Amino acid sequence: MDFYFTADQQAFRREVRSWLAGHVPADLKGRGFAASRADREHVARLRQWQRELHAAGYVGIDWPSEYGGRGASIMEQIILYEEMSRAQAPQPLNRGGLSMLGPTLMRHGTPAQRERHLAKILTAEEIWCQGFSEPNAGSDLANLQTRAVLDGDVYVLNGQKVWTSMAHVAEWGFFLVRTDPSAAKHKGITFILVDMKAPGISVRPLRQITGEAEFNEVFLENVRVPAANVVGKVNEGWGVAITTLAYERDVLTMIRHISLRTALERLVALARRTKRNGHTAADDPVLRQKLAGLAIAERCLQLNGYRSLTKILKGRPPGPEGSTAKLFWSQVDQELAEVATEIIGPYSQIAAPSEWAPDEGQWEFYALLARGSGIRAGTSEILRNILGERVLGLPKD
Ligand SMILES: Cc1cc2nc3c(=O)[nH]c(=O)nc-3n(C[C@H](O)[C@H](O)[C@H](O)COP(=O)(O)OP(=O)(O)OC[C@H]3O[C@@H](n4cnc5c(N)ncnc54)[C@H](O)[C@@H]3O)c2cc1C
Repeated sequence: MDFYFTADQQAFRREVRSWLAGHVPADLKGRGFAASRADREHVARLRQWQRELHAAGYVGIDWPSEYGGRGASIMEQIILYEEMSRAQAPQPLNRGGLSMLGPTLMRHGTPAQRERHLAKILTAEEIWCQGFSEPNAGSDLANLQTRAVLDGDVYVLNGQKVWTSMAHVAEWGFFLVRTDPSAAKHKGITFILVDMKAPGISVRPLRQITGEAEFNEVFLENVRVPAANVVGKVNEGWGVAITTLAYERDVLTMIRHISLRTALERLVALARRTKRNGHTAADDPVLRQKLAGLAIAERCLQLNGYRSLTKILKGRPPGPEGSTAKLFWSQVDQELAEVATEIIGPYSQIAAPSEWAPDEGQWEFYALLARGSGIRAGTSEILRNILGERVLGLPKD
């Protein structure tokens, strides 16, 4: 790809930079890397932030204009990400809707589904959650058991989902359900859109190692969902889900990069002001090496992300190689949390709201949050299997 920016793109960068300078709310600035979406009040703030971004024309800028986007090019999208990280702005709240369901509906949805859902994804009026994982179906997702039985023009859903991020605040969910239990594992699965307020759905928050409850168990008891909510063909949901998962691992990782860069910049600032033995942590040769290593890794992640986004913009869907980005991002994320812990020393264990917690406890929270990075959106072991078998062509055994 060409890394030079045209005059128009430079003008766009100036426009975004000046807009962000006047609009990133002080209470959200710089906090995106160590925040969860558990607290309802915080979610309401982030919903408002996405609305503001949208009103200014900065949400879904790469979506075609017929779907409410700006129809902008890859370069504008990249410029926006760069400027958001520079301004330490939080990401849009509706990540699942914007980066997973939206592109999936554009590829596999009906015109009525696109008409009904896409605009409200952009404005964050309707937040989406992803109901894929189950107690016995995580890495082995095709083992899922939640049943959907057709009754007239309605599917009746029964079963349980787990680890459903943001289900407690979501208006809608995209679910995988089993519509043909007699078919082979991957064959009888259907992708369906579920109104999270439908009778029969109960959501129970699960407390995480961070102390917050961002994800949930979702129980479905005779939940009636219109058959018109099926995305793609009945029993062919696995193919639809693969599209969604590829976007999750690829595009979403690119977006996560915003918060990673924010974390890195804050870590460097922390190293510069943390004194030990008469000099700052930034003067320590070993820590300097580690910080430089993280900066290089962050840049590699960014450039690799550009490559994937270029491919998507050229109309090709993300492929299995997108797993590299997710795998590498999770390693960098966890290393960054470890270096922060090393720089801060024993104080790194102190959580908010203690007055002794450095940076209001953000690093303590981040170190715990990062443990999940190697699990969510595909565990590191599974991603290595995908890369080994489907990209490198290594034998399965
Ligand atoms: C923060 C967070 C948010 C999440 N949000 C959502 C969400 O919104 N919606 C959703 O549907 N799910 C969500 N998940 C669930 C996530 O997708 C699963 O946790 C993940 O797919 C792993 O499944 P599992 O937890 O059942 O672990 P398992 O699949 O039981 O794996 C356990 C261990 O065995 C290893 N393993 C399993 N199979 C193999 C194999 N074939 N080869 C080598 N090693 C293997 C795994 O790598 C792992 O170390 C979230 C998870 C986290 C941590």
